[in-house]
Amino acid sequence: MKKKCKRCGGYKPLSEFYKMKGPKLYLNVVRKDGVYHHCRECCREKARKYREKFREHDRKYHREYYAKNREKINDYYHEIKAPKDKVRRDRVKKTAFEVIADGKPIKCVQHKEWKCCVDPMNMDYLSLDHINGGGVRHYKEIGGGGSRVYKWIIKNPETAKKIFQIICMNAQWIKRKKNKEYTIGRKTEASVVRRGGYI
Ligand SMILES: [Zn+2]
Ligand SMILES: [Zn+2]
Repeated sequence: MKKKCKRCGGYKPLSEFYKMKGPKLYLNVVRKDGVYHHCRECCREKARKYREKFREHDRKYHREYYAKNREKINDYYHEIKAPKDKVRRDRVKKTAFEVIADGKPIKCVQHKEWKCCVDPMNMDYLSLDHINGGGVRHYKEIGGGGSRVYKWIIKNPETAKKIFQIICMNAQWIKRKKNKEYTIGRKTEASVVRRGGYI
């Protein structure tokens, strides 16, 4: 079944139209097919034009709004948003670490006797390490570090178990320094790639 886009006039399958979200009654009465009158491409185009048109205005508005409400916004960020984000990040981190630990307790594989490394409640001291290096390149493939990596691990547990190990931040820095893996700005990628892959 094809539907005509009311903007570009093209006939396209329903999958080329964004689904409408709203009360059932409204959808049933007004749009039997439950999709918009404009095709996906046109919707994106519209949104892009809209953003362009109001870009300057938006920027100015946000800047002024921030200047006026600086304290309120900062308070909100530090007292409400940041802690909430951390809880959410930690939850994902824990799940990812559980994948890597593979049933064993979550702790640093290098300094098992250090208290900071074995406290499972405090994962702030722990980090992921690419067993065979190549982390920068791998992170680039995934599209960033941090939460993205944790999500990648949860999605690809079998591969991840072979690539990653858990070490504490101390061990992380020692290893980076020894292998010259530390970054100065963004200039180390070449050296990491030269050192070999992560698998
Ligand atoms: Zn269209
Ligand atoms: Zn350690």
